[in-house]
Amino acid sequence: MKEKFKIPQISTGEILREAVKNSTPMGLEAKKFMDAGDLVPDVVVIGIIKDRLAEPDCSKGFILDGFPRTVEQAEALGKILRETKMDLDAVVNLAVPDQELVNRLLSRAKIEGRADDNEETIKNRLKNYNDKTFPLIDYYRKEGILKEVNGVGSMEEITMEILSVLG
Ligand code: AMP
Repeated sequence: MKEKFKIPQISTGEILREAVKNSTPMGLEAKKFMDAGDLVPDVVVIGIIKDRLAEPDCSKGFILDGFPRTVEQAEALGKILRETKMDLDAVVNLAVPDQELVNRLLSRAKIEGRADDNEETIKNRLKNYNDKTFPLIDYYRKEGILKEVNGVGSMEEITMEILSVLG
């Protein structure tokens, strides 16, 4: 997507993992939440996004990956975008059954060795998703920008479907 649209992809998870790796104060604070499969506090991730969206490479557009994950984050994002006169064109929901997600994360654990890809942490991540992130589907449906994509299939099939819903 970032190559096709020539815009940056901004992943809060990647930015946080980099901060953990470099033992920055933010990384040290975030690590305990990430290791437990809990969400990092809103104030931290909202700060990350606010700073990142102010970088010049975001002026022609951006892809947010893994943000927002709570209604508070969505509201803060709306405020940042209004202040900077930017807007969201689309929100893509990739729908995948829980069991398929667990299987994918356990296979990823073998390849990437991410500390939070273990069975116990995955269970908590799914619970947090259902409690805190799932309500965003309705939030963005009401805003009229939600695009639903079946997230089961090959990477090529899913990429094609995302491109097709984005129009
Ligand atoms: P991810 O790479 O998107 O799976 O994120 C890995 C971990 O980083 C999550 O389980 C959270 O602990 C933390 N994280 C990433 N993005 C967010 C966010 N938007 N809000 C809160 N925590 C986040």
